Amino acid sequence: MYDLHIHTRYSDGDNMWMLKNAAEELPFDTIGFVDHAIVTDDDLRTQQKYNLAHVFDKTYEYRRKAIEFHQQDTDVKMLDGIEMDFQIGDESQIAPFFAEAEFEYTIGSVHTVHGTTIPYVDAFEHASEEQITEAVEEYYVQLEALIRSELFDIAAHVDLIEITPHTYGRTSQEHAERIADAFEESRTVPEINVKPILESSGIKYHPDDPLRSELLERNIPFTLGSDAHSVEQFRARAPKLEEVRRELDAEIVDPEQIAGTSST
Ligand SMILES: [Zn+2]
Ligand SMILES: [Zn+2]
Repeated sequence: MYDLHIHTRYSDGDNMWMLKNAAEELPFDTIGFVDHAIVTDDDLRTQQKYNLAHVFDKTYEYRRKAIEFHQQDTDVKMLDGIEMDFQIGDESQIAPFFAEAEFEYTIGSVHTVHGTTIPYVDAFEHASEEQITEAVEEYYVQLEALIRSELFDIAAHVDLIEITPHTYGRTSQEHAERIADAFEESRTVPEINVKPILESSGIKYHPDDPLRSELLERNIPFTLGSDAHSVEQFRARAPKLEEVRRELDAEIVDPEQIAGTSST
């Protein structure tokens, strides 16, 4: 088993040593640490960058030393990754940074659209119908650009817009086809993300339909990630990762393949 989407204290996650111990017990063969970085230069994201400690572009060398240290006394392979926020226009900053930092793999995420940070239950609570439509459109424009940028090994939680109650159900077949087209033409692989946000929807993991079935139909492979921000979440979501492997009729990419294909 593997999990390529785990956050440590180098952003908003948990103690790396405890995560490693939990991985040994569960057991996992490979775990990938990805901490958050934001390079987008606007007011909202600058505020988030410092407020949420999404400054891994400044601290990655320290975590790398910690991985090297912990790797000496475990058989669990620990990978050195990053979850980078993406907005159109960030490419010229992200590319040279990735080339210099040489992570084993990179994850790209669209977390913010239309001046709103998506993964909060109340994110679009006060938005009008028109604003919601625009936000969903913008989300998929940004996601398509992320995939086509060829900057990332993995695209995280690809139908993130589905996890808030106010934007749930807004992904259209046309969105799904556009995103599947982009994945077909890109080296970037979508992720199955088992983070439960909108429990009431009954969705076990993302992407949900229509995007999931469109990607499956075209035989697009996936990676697996829990998006755990704590040891408790990491433990609790491990059975869901196994369930996905059992139930989903899809190619699941090996971590060695992801960690070995980075173009930077
Ligand atoms: Zn994310
Ligand atoms: Zn994450």
